[in-house]
Amino acid sequence: MIAENHPVRVVSRVIDTIDIKAIHRKYKGGGTSAYHPRLLLKILVYGYLTNTYSSRKLEEQVRQNIHFMWLTGLVSPDHHTINRFRGEKLAGILKEIFSQIVMMLVEEGLVTLKEAVFVDGTKMESAANRYTFVWGKSVQKQKERIAEQVGELWKFALEVTAEEMKDQAEVTFEPVTREKIEQVVDQIDKALEGKDVPKAIRQKLNNAKKTWPEQLDRYDEQERILAGRSSYSKTDPDATFMRMKDDHLGTGQLRPAYNLQISTQDQFVLNYSLHQNPGDTTTMKSHLAQFAEMYNTLPAEVVADAGYGSSENYAYLEEVNVDGYVKYNDFDREQKKSKKAPAIFSAEQFEFDQDDQAATCPAGLSMELVKTEKVKTKMDFERTVLHFQGTGCADCPLSGQCLMKRSPRIVEIDPDLRRRRQKASSLLRSEKGIRYRKKRGVDVEATFGNIKQNHGFRRFRLRTIAKAEVEIGLLALAQNFRKWTA
Ligand code: SF4
Repeated sequence: MIAENHPVRVVSRVIDTIDIKAIHRKYKGGGTSAYHPRLLLKILVYGYLTNTYSSRKLEEQVRQNIHFMWLTGLVSPDHHTINRFRGEKLAGILKEIFSQIVMMLVEEGLVTLKEAVFVDGTKMESAANRYTFVWGKSVQKQKERIAEQVGELWKFALEVTAEEMKDQAEVTFEPVTREKIEQVVDQIDKALEGKDVPKAIRQKLNNAKKTWPEQLDRYDEQERILAGRSSYSKTDPDATFMRMKDDHLGTGQLRPAYNLQISTQDQFVLNYSLHQNPGDTTTMKSHLAQFAEMYNTLPAEVVADAGYGSSENYAYLEEVNVDGYVKYNDFDREQKKSKKAPAIFSAEQFEFDQDDQAATCPAGLSMELVKTEKVKTKMDFERTVLHFQGTGCADCPLSGQCLMKRSPRIVEIDPDLRRRRQKASSLLRSEKGIRYRKKRGVDVEATFGNIKQNHGFRRFRLRTIAKAEVEIGLLALAQNFRKWTA
């Protein structure tokens, strides 16, 4: 007899009550299965809950394991059916199901969407082959090499056909596109027609006509896939090569991976998102936007580490009225400042008056505003940076701690960032902030530890971001069911 609160019963009960319209919509879009979607969903969720991630193993379990047999009523789909359902039918819709189950947790009083969530990220290796990479820099270099060679050919053509080409307009080889290069090569070819051209140059020209257009098409396609990323994997073009934390051999090897972000509360996962860039800073906005889309609300408070403490993130949290218990780079050092002060005064050690927009240096002297600069971040967020210059540096007794190479000292201050950091600092140092800082490690970080160490999921099994997202959704559901039935 299976106990009422046994995970297999809870999974079955919950999946029987959720709305699966989204899956039915997908089935109508093509492809049918003899098995009911609820049945396949139960197998997958219970499979991920019991660390069974492979579709072949799941097929085995539904035939041999008593809990799976109870769950399916002795119906046993094969691994193709399970795999197709997971990779094709659940892609793009699992979040809808996930959010319904989180709403049940809310109704049960186990979590709330109104209070604090803990946000963090980890790199999860993709299913891609580790050695099939395309590097953005290398694509750029190849294009530059072609531009350089076409430049040499152009120069040669100018030398031998000085008279005919003297009226040619100035030629640029940028941007290095197929059309541009073909047009220039064609001009060179026509100019050299009938001329006595060395064999090596003729060969280069023939090679240019034959191989460059195709090569340039390939580089264009690679740049389109890169979409501003530094790399991608040929066997999972959505994955980016990232440095992994669990590189125990310390080889520094980059692996194809996704940046997984989750929001937790008491180790229940409330939101998950996959990102293609390794840095956490740029993920917060889209991660929280997905939260808002799922639940029509945002948590009142967000707790995160210094990886998220950027100008842009603070501004976003302010805009959406969320209290950010988000550390910034210097926060931990500030807390220990009595123990170890930096060798040279950092910009934070220069006082700034928000009302007067005036800076005072550690020697207590007013500084002179010498420049106001507008700076855009990678994500196109505009910041205003003020440059202040010291006014008494020449004979200052603190110059040893203040001046590096340049005298007088110049400091750059972003007034909005200062103000937002001060707000974050007072939140983090409040009683609640101290509690949250302690809890972050045992909430979101422990959830990653649980998934990776205790349940052995360190690498996706499916390729492409849409399918990897299904896997992370199933893992998040498994984590929530585990907590629910603990
Ligand atoms: S070196 Fe210049 S900026 Fe630094 S403390 Fe002295 S006067 Fe102020």
